[in-house]
Order: sequence, then structure tokens, then C-alpha cells
Amino acid sequence: MQIITSIQKMQTESQKWQMADKTCGFVATMGYLHQGHLSLLARAKEENDYSVVSIFVNPLQFAPTEDFAAYPRDQKRDRALCEKHGADYLFIPEISDIYPEGFSSYVTVDGYNQHLCGMSRPDHFRGVTTIVNKLFNICRPDRAYFGQKDIQQLIILRKMTDDLNIPLEICAVPTLRDPDGLAISSRNVYLSDTERKQAPGIYAALLSAQQLIESGERDVARIIENSKEVLASRVPVAQLEYLQIVDGKTLNPLSQVTDSVIIAVAVRMKKARLIDNIILNI
Ligand code: AMP
Repeated sequence: MQIITSIQKMQTESQKWQMADKTCGFVATMGYLHQGHLSLLARAKEENDYSVVSIFVNPLQFAPTEDFAAYPRDQKRDRALCEKHGADYLFIPEISDIYPEGFSSYVTVDGYNQHLCGMSRPDHFRGVTTIVNKLFNICRPDRAYFGQKDIQQLIILRKMTDDLNIPLEICAVPTLRDPDGLAISSRNVYLSDTERKQAPGIYAALLSAQQLIESGERDVARIIENSKEVLASRVPVAQLEYLQIVDGKTLNPLSQVTDSVIIAVAVRMKKARLIDNIILNI
């Protein structure tokens, strides 16, 4: 595995495999790698000649009040994991190279920011689309792998790629969960023992909505009320940020369940903010 920190060097490498007519699968991460990240890498390896994992804790997607400085980091462990799981390249750029003084170009995707996580994190997705665009230009992958756990991010990145004619395929990878149902996240490390014990109730609340829909219920208000009760009883330590059923493509809130919906939730614990979702195509 090659570890690359220079943007120029990474671009030279990506040119090499393009000239050789080889394909590259790309996994963008903020590090503190876990099984979820590794499932993205496994897909990238399976479907391409080369795989690139990037690690970059992107300051642009954190609000000043958020956990940029405290975000968990362990580069030594991340390097070992990437090596063990067969990544060909690990790209770890410096913040000062990615955002040199005078940096002033941003990518925004209009129309999705008023929904779900955009409500409490108004500048978050502009940070994500800007960095992912830069990473695409540096690594020039044929396929880029993103987790369904961050469904709003995935939908926005698909839209960006379509709208801007970026010549690559965005590939969705299912959410990897701990055996008790909790979606794996780097931020789970913030959870206290009590919070960790209760946290699987977040997924249980989503599953209860899914069950109601599958048994024929179509009234979103009734479904959400039921799920909120599950959440309040199973995860009393959590503060609910949103629990919504939205359109599977536009993310617009719905009053009646349609044939393609996303049931999405965000909660705040003491230190961690956790999100999860279920995609349902009836
Ligand atoms: P992050 O390091 O949190 O920015 O995540 C990097 C990528 O890994 C994103 O595409 C996430 O959606 C994906 N990811 C994070 N957690 C999981 C998970 N539990 N299962 C699958 N993909 C995940």
C-alpha cells in the first residue's frame, strides 16, 4: 500500500492508472476506521483494479460549535487497517494543502439543505460537496463508494455528480450495524455505557415504522407518533432532533407514505449526535 500525502503525487498516480486503462474505486473517509468503512473498501476492491481510501477530517463541514477538534483520530491504526484490508493507496492530505490561504471556491447543491440534517447543520453539505469534489479531481476514480447510513449525503453527492457531469459512478453501500442493531459510526466512541446500552433503540424506532408501513399503514403522522413512543421508551437519554418519513428521491417530508420513502432519524446524546435511516421501496 502506498501512503500519499501530496496532492500532486496523488494526481500523478491517478493519471498512471487512467493511461493504463485501469479502473479505480474510491472511499472518502474522515478516518477512525471501522467495519462500515471497510465494507466500502471491500466493494471498491471487488469492482475495480485499484482502490484508494482517503482520510481527511474536513473542517469545512463542521460548524464552529461542532466536534472538529475532538473528532476521534488514530492514524496509526487506520494505516494498519487499510494495509490489512488491501487498499492500494491511502491518501492523507494536509489541511493547509487542501485549503491554502485564499481558498474561495465552493460547491453547493441547492434544494436539499432545508431537510433532515440540513435543518440543524446549514453549512454541512456545502463542506461535504466541496471536499468530495476536490477529492474526485485529485483521485479521479471511476467509482466512488458511500454509505447509506449518510443517506442525505449520498443523495446530494449523486445529484452533484449528475448535475456537474462528473465522469464517475456513485455506488451506495448498505449500513453496517453492530449485532444489536446500532449503526456503526466513528462517533459511537463518544457514547457513555448507558447511552451505548440504549442506542440500539434508535434502530428499533425505525424498524417499528417499517413494520407499520409493511402492515399497510400509510398515515405518516400516526407512524411517526408510534416510532417516537418507541424511541422515548427505549432511548430516554436521547434528545430527538428529527424523526421523519421523506420522499426517497427529493427528501421532501410526506403526509402519506408513497412507494419510495426514507425513514430517517437524528438524536443527540450528551456528546454524540447519531443518525440512522431505513430506505423502503414498497
Ligand atoms: P465518515 O468517515 O463518517 O465520513 O464516513 C465515510 C464513509 O463511510 C461515508 O460514505 C459513510 O456513509 C460511510 N459509513 C460510515 N458508517 C457506515 C456504516 N455503518 N456502514 C456503511 N457505511 C458507513
